[in-house]
Amino acid sequence: MKSTNIFETHSRVTKELRAERIGHKGGVLWLTGLSGAGKSTLATELEHRLFHSGYNVYVLDGDNVRHGLSSNLAFSPEDRAENIRRVGEVCGLFADAGFVTIAAFISPYRDDRTVARQASGDSFHEVFVNADLATCEARDTKGLYKRARQGEIAEFTGISAPYEEPLNAELQVDTMNRTVGSCIDTLEDYVGKNFKL
Ligand code: ADP
Repeated sequence: MKSTNIFETHSRVTKELRAERIGHKGGVLWLTGLSGAGKSTLATELEHRLFHSGYNVYVLDGDNVRHGLSSNLAFSPEDRAENIRRVGEVCGLFADAGFVTIAAFISPYRDDRTVARQASGDSFHEVFVNADLATCEARDTKGLYKRARQGEIAEFTGISAPYEEPLNAELQVDTMNRTVGSCIDTLEDYVGKNFKL
């Protein structure tokens, strides 16, 4: 914190009051995994499904955030840490406002994910979207792996930058051997159990 002259205000509308009116708890589903693992696909589908079941739900996605909130950041370890710190804070605010907040970010470093978790406390749920490098590279939905292999993209996760798998994720979805629909069923079931009042 750069300034010491800061005094927090406290809302009179508590988390509990909001949850009661909305009908479910707020919180964060933090999807982490390699590029191409399926984070955006699952985030978008889950948001659609939950919205139509009556949830307050919102997606924060890596590519979108990098056009706005984090448009001044690149992919060095320091910039990645700052990106995830910012997003973690924003997710904490959305969770506090009562939303099921779905975050889709590679977020390759464990320490950075811990920082994001700390911004939301016990309403943070880490989801490992698990597809190995060979699978993601074979999909290469955005053509980025090919370019990274050709040396056109520096610090690309899985190729020239590390990915640290979660050690204690609350949930894991295997997108190598399961369909999108089956992964969504698992996620929806998890939300039903963990975000109910
Ligand atoms: P990311 O957001 O992790 O970079 P994307 O969602 O953009 O990944 O791409 C994942 C690709 O994998 C999509 O083309 C999607 O259709 C495909 N795919 C195959 N099986 C699954 C699954 N079970 N879950 C999610 N995506 C899957």
